[in-house]
Amino acid sequence: MVYLEKRRLRREEHEEQNDGANEEEVRNRDANEEGEVGNEEEQDNNANGEEDQNHDGNVQEAGNVQEVDNGAANEEDNVGNEVANEAANGENNNNANEVELANHDVDDNIGRNLMERIEWPVQDLQRGSEWITDLMDNFTIFFGHVLTGSFYPVLHRAIGVGSAFEGWSPREEDVVYRVLIPLTPPRAHTFTLEVDTARQMPNRTFHVRVELQCTCLTELQQGGNMLCFLHQHAEALRRNQDPSLLHTLCTGSYLDVQKTTRWFYQLVRAIWPALPQSHNWHLLLLPSTRSCKFKVTNSTESFQIEMLFGVQRGDSDVFVSSESREPLTLRTAWPETFAVAEIKFFRYIDSQAPPDSLHLKCLQFFTHLQLGLCFSTYTMKTIVMHLLNTLPVSQWRRRDFVRRLLDIRECLRLCVAHKRLNHFIVGNPRLPEEIRLPPDVRMAATHNLFHHQVTDPSARSQAISEYHVLQQRFTRILNPDH
Ligand SMILES: [Zn+2]
Repeated sequence: MVYLEKRRLRREEHEEQNDGANEEEVRNRDANEEGEVGNEEEQDNNANGEEDQNHDGNVQEAGNVQEVDNGAANEEDNVGNEVANEAANGENNNNANEVELANHDVDDNIGRNLMERIEWPVQDLQRGSEWITDLMDNFTIFFGHVLTGSFYPVLHRAIGVGSAFEGWSPREEDVVYRVLIPLTPPRAHTFTLEVDTARQMPNRTFHVRVELQCTCLTELQQGGNMLCFLHQHAEALRRNQDPSLLHTLCTGSYLDVQKTTRWFYQLVRAIWPALPQSHNWHLLLLPSTRSCKFKVTNSTESFQIEMLFGVQRGDSDVFVSSESREPLTLRTAWPETFAVAEIKFFRYIDSQAPPDSLHLKCLQFFTHLQLGLCFSTYTMKTIVMHLLNTLPVSQWRRRDFVRRLLDIRECLRLCVAHKRLNHFIVGNPRLPEEIRLPPDVRMAATHNLFHHQVTDPSARSQAISEYHVLQQRFTRILNPDH
């Protein structure tokens, strides 16, 4: 035990030294970077070309992390070799095993101490996600009953998306559970997605063109009594049949987000009393023009839910959705979203990782660490997704905890230094096969999420100075006695 304790101390000392060294390095680098900013401004015309050259920046960086990790793996391999040699010698076999176990124990102890020192949010996201999934499944059943035979969009099973369903949360309270409800056209209608060419990935918007289909032949074959919207007299249609989707939720030939939202609120309000959850929970609808937001509360708990609508791009995991990141989007504009592809990636990692994997804790840690700074939660999520996709999923356990946190911080440092963080989905050739992308997204050039740092010197200096703040916060937590 004394032996372990000494090793632990040595290790911590060592890490502190490393940390100091890294800080120094960042300072040096940043000094260089700042010196270079002027030069880059001169080459501003080349900004795009320069970006192209840097396309592989992230891959290299992830590669660096891989190398660091291979280093660790090699060390372990070496220990393994030693074990083998000593086993051949026979006598010291037990000692060698003890060394290896002691190494793991030391790392695990450090990980456990750190886990205990960090204040984690108290919400139970798993329970919340399951409860919301049940509620949404009940809604889906009733949507089916109510809308059968209508000319409103067909509503499919809700897909939980975003941080709460992925298992982490940027906030202590007010967690919003987001779901995306896929829409498909009702009978006699088709949807065609038309891309708005004025905008580039990953912020493209689409328009959902709604067209009528001739139903004369199918109605004849199946003995149905639906009138064909294309070939029946308007007067007969008006008297005998509900209006088509074009006359209810569209503006011109396009599906209107706001009309769809209003219709959906009415539907939720009408269906709620029929759901089993309505016996014990109170529904409060919240205002929104591009999604359906509500809160359900009982005497002890409450959940906040946002239902977005989406149209799938082909059979891929990319959708166009009602969610808007900007306030002035056209009523008929449906921004492209990668939220489903991202949650699918997290599910894929969950399925591969050991049950005690701490990858979500790592993400949780950093989203909390960057609060109030210019790095968004999406930046931290993107870095963690790149690392999860590069490092073996088995190496995110408690004994790897400190190393992974250092990796994430190092990745952020490199991204700031190189002014480059590649979008995780767009143009990433290394995604797991399980994630299906439309060809234009898969083949697209990588997109630099730190592009503004290339073009905006004030954003650049803010990123550098706030990285230092983050670095200091990080060191304080890892080495509280420092
Ligand atoms: Zn017809």
